[in-house]
Amino acid sequence: MQEIDARCIFDGKATLGEGPAWIAESQRLIWVDIERHLINRLDPATGKNESWAVGCDVGFAVPDTSGNIVAGTRDGIIRLNTETGEITSVVDPESDIPTNRFNDGKCDPRGRIFGGSISYERIVGDASLYRFDTDFQVEKVQDGITNSNGLTWSLDEKTFYYIDTPTRKVDAFDYDVETGAISNRRTVINVPEDLGKPDGMTIDNEGMLWVCLWGGWGVTRWNPETAELIGKINLPCKNVTSCCFGGPNLDQLFISCARTGLTAEELANQPQAGSLFVAEPGVSGQAAVAFGG
Ligand code: CA
Repeated sequence: MQEIDARCIFDGKATLGEGPAWIAESQRLIWVDIERHLINRLDPATGKNESWAVGCDVGFAVPDTSGNIVAGTRDGIIRLNTETGEITSVVDPESDIPTNRFNDGKCDPRGRIFGGSISYERIVGDASLYRFDTDFQVEKVQDGITNSNGLTWSLDEKTFYYIDTPTRKVDAFDYDVETGAISNRRTVINVPEDLGKPDGMTIDNEGMLWVCLWGGWGVTRWNPETAELIGKINLPCKNVTSCCFGGPNLDQLFISCARTGLTAEELANQPQAGSLFVAEPGVSGQAAVAFGG
């Protein structure tokens, strides 16, 4: 198994750094600090990081086609105008569930948002996965979720990969890219308990899955056809949350991690916890698809 080390590129001391998404047009990295209520946009070339406070927990942020940002929060879906800082509420399919917030989210190949929720108390089955079409029409596509996390699509757009963290599984669905429908759920990878808990996920241009490990000190690479563990990027931080490909040649893997969940002693021994990291794994991937609405 190939193992390499990641290096720190931005020491932001995020409490719960999450959701890196690469914008090819501007060569910027969007990411969130969920528990500090921040949407961030980093220019890796200069190290300049912009932040917008949204006033509540923010689980994901994706670019839209106008250069602004759409995000999933405790209060539902919002739009952020990155020029003016203005925030507009759009839709909240879980306004009746105050014990949930939005967690990981991403656009499908056609620019629809898939975003799931998480139960603060980890009440089993209390969360769901939603699809937001480009006119913000919303549909619940999977219920019975506890901690909706990593999601990505196969290169041929025919398979949707998905992680509900407490299951310790990567599941696959058949994907209909014309309608955004998912079907035929099955498990393709079981993450052994001693590796950590599966969190964020992306796919590379060889069709292999990169799964971040909460409690697992890194990002693992898996073959979803054989369920084989084939590589790992090591971080000097225990709770690794999410990753995306980016950079000028889309051959860098940007990785987020967290300070939350660590003891005082662990924090002292992991001074880069909450930073953004990058690694060059020798394979490329794809930039974020912008929300098309
Ligand atoms: Ca996550």
